[in-house]
Amino acid sequence: MGTTFDVAVIGAGIVGSAIARKLAGYELSVALLDARDDVGDGTSKANTAILHTGFDAKPGTLESRLVREGYHLLSDYAERTGIPVERTGALLVAWTGEELDALPALKEKAERNGYGKTRIVGRDEVYQQVPHLGEGALGGLTVPDESIICTWTTNLALATEAVLRGVTLLLNRRVQSVEDRGDRTALRTSGGEVNARWVVNAAGLGADVIDRLFGHDRFTVTPRRGELLVYDKLARPLVDRIILPVPTSRGKGVLISPTVYGNVLLGPTAEDLTDRTDTGTSEKGLEFLLGKGEKLMPDLLREEVTATYAGLRAASDHPDYLIEADAGRRYVLVGGIRSTGLTSGIAVGEHVAELIGDAGLALTPREDLPEPPHMPNLGEAYLRPYQDAARIAGDPAYGRVVCFCERVTAGEIRDTFRSPIPPAGLEGLRRRTRAMNGRCQGFFCGAEVGKLMDTKGGSACEQRHPSPEAQR
Ligand SMILES: Cc1cc2nc3c(=O)[nH]c(=O)nc-3n(C[C@H](O)[C@H](O)[C@H](O)COP(=O)(O)OP(=O)(O)OC[C@H]3O[C@@H](n4cnc5c(N)ncnc54)[C@H](O)[C@@H]3O)c2cc1C
Repeated sequence: MGTTFDVAVIGAGIVGSAIARKLAGYELSVALLDARDDVGDGTSKANTAILHTGFDAKPGTLESRLVREGYHLLSDYAERTGIPVERTGALLVAWTGEELDALPALKEKAERNGYGKTRIVGRDEVYQQVPHLGEGALGGLTVPDESIICTWTTNLALATEAVLRGVTLLLNRRVQSVEDRGDRTALRTSGGEVNARWVVNAAGLGADVIDRLFGHDRFTVTPRRGELLVYDKLARPLVDRIILPVPTSRGKGVLISPTVYGNVLLGPTAEDLTDRTDTGTSEKGLEFLLGKGEKLMPDLLREEVTATYAGLRAASDHPDYLIEADAGRRYVLVGGIRSTGLTSGIAVGEHVAELIGDAGLALTPREDLPEPPHMPNLGEAYLRPYQDAARIAGDPAYGRVVCFCERVTAGEIRDTFRSPIPPAGLEGLRRRTRAMNGRCQGFFCGAEVGKLMDTKGGSACEQRHPSPEAQR
């Protein structure tokens, strides 16, 4: 490619997409690269999907500040773009005397993190709030603003807005080596060379490897696997808020949470691995979760499991986010974004723009920015196309359900192929529509969805009326 971009951002997860979107708000040419064939196909697709207030972060850290800011920025962005969020609140439960004694310190920590709305509650109130909780809870701490969100739509909205702002999205470009060419860096990728004056490394699990290509040796990523169980929608009435354990030094612990798709999650585990690609679930992990679940909420374990999945946190030997600019090399590292990057992503984007501006890149705000995209709704708390009589009257494809478990219509599937970032395969289609994510896991709808995938949504639905998403 002959162009030299002003900035190349490596990694199209939530963090890289947020950075690219932010930088494209200035008079800059920006490329967003990813090794994979779709955006949001790394850690950002497989997390617990909680929009954190940051109440339990380590006060004074960069992570604490960016999670707190990110919470507000993402809440606002979700409202503007239609990312589904549910304001469920959370209840942190103490099961031992030691955990009960830790509650006042947690409340005080939350206050030092700028969050003053937690409340310590006694045993009776705990059971009033969550009647199906297992026996033995001693007390709790309420965190009214913890919320649930759709991580897939978050990533896709940020990347879509980046593209609408003119960012060049370069998929299937694994960065393999870099060469300093004086006024620019040549990134040698699996899909050819990409040149840029500045490079931002937001490569998640691969950020330390890229950092070494730039001559640094400051941290090592350890993939910390988190496995989760997804319970069927019939379980949802058991759980109307996030149920958290008292956090430990190894992480936030095993929680129970509703999802915006109407399911219930139990997880995650926390297991350090060496293989950065091992996102498989394990018998050991699932047994561990079932043991935890039996204590936390035995009624939940009587419900059916729809799916299991695992994500890899980019844990590191550095105790905080590691975001640093190297002005001489015109390079910014965004590393160690472990278990809070969904929430903090937009704030990380703001922070990187400040750093890169301070390091010498001229940032002139653009005056011709397009409106943010309006994303298709995947959340149960909002109107879905199959429920929308006016929309179906305008285009019958929204009334033709293809995936019956998740009630996904032919119109929604078709729209993904007309969107700025169409899916590259069935996995991407699942993340954009929920098709095949229900209790049958594609057993009944797989062939039909596959056909729509092959024909890019064309053969199975009339295209008489372009959808509202397609017209934007
Ligand atoms: C089990 C679990 C639960 C979590 N729960 C929450 C939660 O509830 N709330 C929350 O806020 N956060 C949560 N997180 C954390 C959150 O998911 C991550 O912090 C966030 O997704 C990180 O985004 P990212 O963009 O940095 O990384 P990624 O999404 O992994 O993106 C990095 C991208 O870089 C690309 N890449 C890597 N190497 C190269 C290369 N050499 N060349 C080109 N591209 C490359 C990858 O393909 C990938 O797409 C959780 C994480 C896990 C694992």
